[in-house]
Amino acid sequence: MISTHLMKLAEQNGWKVNTKEESVFGVYNDYLFTVLEGNRFKAFITPVAGISPAALETVMDYLEKQRKLLRLHSFEAHDNFLCVRMEEGMVKLSADKLEYMLGQISGLLSLQEVPADACVVCGQPAARRGLYVGLFCNLHTECENADMVEFTPGTEPAGETET
Ligand SMILES: [Zn+2]
Repeated sequence: MISTHLMKLAEQNGWKVNTKEESVFGVYNDYLFTVLEGNRFKAFITPVAGISPAALETVMDYLEKQRKLLRLHSFEAHDNFLCVRMEEGMVKLSADKLEYMLGQISGLLSLQEVPADACVVCGQPAARRGLYVGLFCNLHTECENADMVEFTPGTEPAGETET
């Protein structure tokens, strides 16, 4: 079941609710987000297709440096999506706190000039928006079954050791 705080976040931003995936999704500061709940965290997932290797490194470095301050549970980038998980204790994160995180992430992406309209598969601009593996993103019709151009290679989940 989707929590009231998540419903409120969707409501105050004119987002949609995906009851099947138990997530909410929509646009924030031009960037597309899917937010869902896990065990003691909220996950913010946004496409980063078209990001340059330098920008990706800067984004990951920033999140690592701000980890404590932003109360991050973990974060990672793979399959052209950035996933940032915010820690949640017994007291659930309010809609305003969730929105604050959306502001942080979208601001960071904007500062790094990450394209907000890149197709998640090929990285080229795409006007069409939809759900791809349940996540809100820009996507060409012809790319739906195409091989992904990998913009997020080799970024392991933070905190895990390499094997
Ligand atoms: Zn495409």
